[in-house]
Amino acid sequence: MRSVCLLGSTGSIGCQTLDVIAAFPDRFRVTALSAYSQVDLLADQARRFHASTAVIAREDLIPALREALAGTHTRVLGGMEGLCEVAANPAADMVVTAMVGAAGLLPLLAAAKAGKTIALANKEPLVAAGELVMAAVQEGQATLIPVDSEPSAIFQCLQGQDRCGLAKIILTASGGALKGLSPEQLERVTPEEALNHPTWRMGRKITIDSATLMNKGLEVIEAHWLFDVPIAQIHITIHPQSIVHSLVEFQDGSLLAQCGIPSMCTPIQYALGYPERLPHNWAPLDLEAVGTLTFQQPDFSRFPAPALARQAAAVGGTATTCLNAANEEAVIAFLDHHIGFMEIPRLVEKALTAHTPIPHPTLEQVLETDRKVRESVRRMAILY
Ligand code: MG
Repeated sequence: MRSVCLLGSTGSIGCQTLDVIAAFPDRFRVTALSAYSQVDLLADQARRFHASTAVIAREDLIPALREALAGTHTRVLGGMEGLCEVAANPAADMVVTAMVGAAGLLPLLAAAKAGKTIALANKEPLVAAGELVMAAVQEGQATLIPVDSEPSAIFQCLQGQDRCGLAKIILTASGGALKGLSPEQLERVTPEEALNHPTWRMGRKITIDSATLMNKGLEVIEAHWLFDVPIAQIHITIHPQSIVHSLVEFQDGSLLAQCGIPSMCTPIQYALGYPERLPHNWAPLDLEAVGTLTFQQPDFSRFPAPALARQAAAVGGTATTCLNAANEEAVIAFLDHHIGFMEIPRLVEKALTAHTPIPHPTLEQVLETDRKVRESVRRMAILY
């Protein structure tokens, strides 16, 4: 029996993780759940899964959560302190990080230092502070298992392989909702259009990141830290069918791919059960029904975000903290109709140009950079 602390239980990944847990009641039990602000859903989940602790990130909502959980044995905590407490609590063997954004950094560090097995769905902390996260993983002897479909594919392809033979990582990208649009059309894209992803049902932030291709840029940096592969050896290819979830190339020219239906339940279940493969209860991939798999080069002139991510990664230090913070704020400004779609990469570029990177930053320097960049991007977004 594995006891699971699930951070971000009310989001898309969080709800699907609970579906997987519910399908295997003899294998998994929930110790703690957390949400940012969805009190009612969090309380329902805590009751249904008999969670010992429920954490609401927004501290002003603690009284509402207490009320919603009245008469249960679930302990109520709040804020960053509560998130870090449950992430490091000895009651959990495994911590699933499904929060959105760099907000997940401190709980991830707490889980890593406590030596947890971490199912990592929240990639932004690795982008914002990859060096600190990997140092904490080493310090705590923690295990990182990626949940995101692309790094999960790479992780699976590398099982049992001699890492010395690894030549290249190839990340697949669906291309998002807007891959066919001209530069002029891209300028006029609305949040509603960008949120209409062709193959994946996901949360709002990651769906916009998919449309700008920044998601792939963030994944390049994530893969660099997770698999210790130089940025230059991580490639991106557009694969609209979202069947091949990523590939690795070895020095003998062989490529290994991991394929499956585009559903997050597969990588979530793999991470929870690792190293075991548990049986699934969904329709498997029907190769003949898919028929054709295609791959094409991304157009980085129309979609400049991945190049910005590579540029920030090449600089290193707080440059990627800046990249991530600027992107998070620009996405919020776009979803709130304050800026146009193409202003997202433009604001990120402006933030990177204005930023003086600090090499090998401390946690305090990362948090300070994150705060300052967010403030300046918010200010720039208002001026548009
Ligand atoms: Mg992904």
